[in-house]
Amino acid sequence: MNLFTALRKAFPEDLDACAIEPCDGPDTSHCYTWRDLDGASARIANLLDSLDLPPASRVAVQVEKSVEALLLYLAVLRAGHVFLPLNTAYQAAEIEYFIGNAEPAVVVCSGRNFGWVSRLAFQRGTTHVFTLNDDRTGTLLDRAAFQADEHTPAPKSPDDLAAILYTSGTTGRSKGAMLSHGNLLSNAETLKDYWGWQPGRDVLIHALPIFHVHGLFVASHAALLAGSRMLWFSRFDPKAVVRRLPEATVFMGVPTLYVRLLGEAGLTREACRHMRLFISGSAPLLIETFNDWRERTGHTILERYGMSETVMLTSNPYRPEDGERRGGTVGFPLPGVSLRIRGDQGQALAEGEIGGIEVRGPNVFAGYWRMPEKTKEEFTADGWFKTGDVGKVDADGYVTIVGRSKDLIITGGYNVYPAEVEGYLNELPGVAESAVIGVPHPDFGEGVVAVVVARPGASIDARGLMDSLKTKIAAFKVPKQLFLVEELPRNTMGKVQKNLLRERHEGAFKALGRS
Ligand code: AMP
Repeated sequence: MNLFTALRKAFPEDLDACAIEPCDGPDTSHCYTWRDLDGASARIANLLDSLDLPPASRVAVQVEKSVEALLLYLAVLRAGHVFLPLNTAYQAAEIEYFIGNAEPAVVVCSGRNFGWVSRLAFQRGTTHVFTLNDDRTGTLLDRAAFQADEHTPAPKSPDDLAAILYTSGTTGRSKGAMLSHGNLLSNAETLKDYWGWQPGRDVLIHALPIFHVHGLFVASHAALLAGSRMLWFSRFDPKAVVRRLPEATVFMGVPTLYVRLLGEAGLTREACRHMRLFISGSAPLLIETFNDWRERTGHTILERYGMSETVMLTSNPYRPEDGERRGGTVGFPLPGVSLRIRGDQGQALAEGEIGGIEVRGPNVFAGYWRMPEKTKEEFTADGWFKTGDVGKVDADGYVTIVGRSKDLIITGGYNVYPAEVEGYLNELPGVAESAVIGVPHPDFGEGVVAVVVARPGASIDARGLMDSLKTKIAAFKVPKQLFLVEELPRNTMGKVQKNLLRERHEGAFKALGRS
């Protein structure tokens, strides 16, 4: 079934009820009803139909977040094409790569970028370039306004391609993960049930970008499939979010959003009185944030784990009868998802042992766009996807992520898992957070380096931290150099950009090299 058809079926009976309420931007007086979502997405889908594109054409979209941008996504599904969202932070060289790689038939960009984006797109064979701004202007809406507000969704089978998500590419060239209607719908249905969405009652605060799996699929699909109202923030402003919390029941955020919300005095139990669920993902949630949140709000954050290639994989339990929510873990494999841990040679590992996380399920993507070799490498012979994450499963079945396999440090032949060292470092007095990386070392191959952010007002001494660590963990894991910084470099989804840190500190042990 076309994913749009399934979402549309879930709209509530009262089509004039509010579906999406913009909470910032040029016009907050206007609430988009379910009828608006249906009619406006039909108009854009009709516009796409009128262009006579080949079936399953790619529609690449780099625009600021707006309700219309979400409507465009729905319209692309509805018309049977393939949605290709692009991070608004991408610059010309990156956009050139994506357009060259995906060969979209249609590109939609913000008006201020039209000059250079359209030049690039037309050079690469794109036939249509539209603009869409975050104030409901642009040629896309101008053209769609002349279209009918009814549209029959293109028939689709579960294996048909719905979206291509370029991975965040913190290492190497970004790859386009191909997600089908079946991948997205099965995951959305699972999340709706597992997280206990309550049609007609839930209200979601949507404050995440919609060019990424978290905001576009996890948050939007669940709310649409539950016929739930969304409080829509085009950008995250902690004060504004806290102000609207009393009206909401569900919030989804990356860990940095939780840290910023904790900085608001208005975040109280009273403000969260109607909240049912706080969900965190996309990057590891510090145990300290997990504990502080519980203390301040009385709510236990539910941490889950997923990725562009698979949508959601694991989740801490929602219902108390399924178990407690354990900080520092990402919970259990979701219903329908199989997860196993494998060693370097693909061998099965015992419970609690650390290895590569491999997964299988209806949510797992078909492969990387136009990269059959890369796709083959990332799947095992028996059909499991190698996530590239390293982790373990404990006796109770909880999954813990220890890091990305590419971030694994091998020093003098020993494996060092950065997350383990970071965990110990973060517990030391004066440390706010840290990132542990491996950089070239003349004797050990790689040497362990820590980059540490101090708590406000704390003065910390690198030597002292390393000495304290020596009393807690094996000497080979203790960083040989430690750098103090004001903040860690992060991408828009809150992930620490370890590739930048490795570049920055690659010469840390050069002086030791023999000439
Ligand atoms: P992306 O494809 O941009 O969503 O990135 C997916 C990656 O984010 C995963 O492979 C993990 O490395 C990381 N990730 C997602 N959720 C979590 C989590 N709860 N804890 C730790 N890492 C996570």
